[in-house]
Amino acid sequence: MARPYNFYAGPAAIPLPALQAVQSELLDYNGSGLSIMEVSHRGKDYDHVHEETIALVKELMGLDDRFHVLLLHGGASTQFAMVPMNFLPADGSADYILTGEWSKKALKEAKGLGKPRVAATTELEGGVFRAIPKQDQLDLDANAAYCHFTTNNTIFGTQFNTMPQTGDVPLVADMSSDILSRQIDPSPFGLIYAGAQKNLGPSGLALVVIRDDMVGKCKAGVPTMFSYKTHVDKNSLFNTPPCLAIYVMNKVLHWLKGEGGVDAIEKVNAEKAAIIYGAIDGSGGYYRNTIAPEDRSKMNIVFNLPSEELEKKFVKEGEAAGFIGIKGHRSVGGIRISAYNAAPLQAAKDVAVFMKEFCAKNG
Ligand code: PMP
Repeated sequence: MARPYNFYAGPAAIPLPALQAVQSELLDYNGSGLSIMEVSHRGKDYDHVHEETIALVKELMGLDDRFHVLLLHGGASTQFAMVPMNFLPADGSADYILTGEWSKKALKEAKGLGKPRVAATTELEGGVFRAIPKQDQLDLDANAAYCHFTTNNTIFGTQFNTMPQTGDVPLVADMSSDILSRQIDPSPFGLIYAGAQKNLGPSGLALVVIRDDMVGKCKAGVPTMFSYKTHVDKNSLFNTPPCLAIYVMNKVLHWLKGEGGVDAIEKVNAEKAAIIYGAIDGSGGYYRNTIAPEDRSKMNIVFNLPSEELEKKFVKEGEAAGFIGIKGHRSVGGIRISAYNAAPLQAAKDVAVFMKEFCAKNG
């Protein structure tokens, strides 16, 4: 069966070898005669998957012993609330950098729980975002409990290519759409979270990385399931974890390690993005992306054609040619090519050829 190139923004492509590994073990995990989703989360088979997944995250992200890796329910959106529930003091503040829809959603949750500040916003009229604020545009509070930002803006196609500098204020980042796609220095991050459905595996699961000093700052009185301390103390086994999603993530991480890890995939991601942006910039204005090169996302590449009719035609013909999931987010329209880790280099090359041919025929 021929598989199309999957450019969905999330849930997104899972590497074929990971899917095949799941398939081959589905009816009989490790000689048990049972699938991994039918066995106790306290048994030896699942325990191995759980521990190995945590160890792979630590290895691939280059995390030292200061960091705890948590595997939680509720996707990234639950983290929008858990962060302020645990860290926003009743009499204090936290900074939020707004660069898109998802950071606005995170701020909304914090507003319901305390008094966050907006340290910067790049919102334009009509709720559109096209840029990442520069360091000197950040109005930072040295007493903030944390500074929250979204490393990659899935809808608007922008990405922090250098991280904000906040001194002693811990960074808290939503890395849902670029986790493990590039090397980062984890040191300034008090907490990192990511919904799994782009670079890690199936939706519903959230990866959380929390630094030890932040565990000590978790507020008392937070409901048990929403306290990071619970999950650190119980190694993400306070209740039944999303075992199947974690198991699939384990296979995705094995695949990434086999590809050479984050260092290697970062190079491929840069090459893919260069090819697709090259097709946009080389089209003589037929394809338009108005984001400054230093703010462009390597994960979600957004652009417009001269008219909505042509965009519809592009999506229709693209899908017929085997490029799935290229329609822009419903709130902004246009085209979005999401080229996460699992999208192969050849996919970028082939879609760039398709773009050139489409432009030649319809330009
Ligand atoms: N943050 C970002 C950057 C996202 O792209 C998304 C989903 N597309 C979310 C948060 C929300 O994730 P979830 O659906 O897992 O809650």
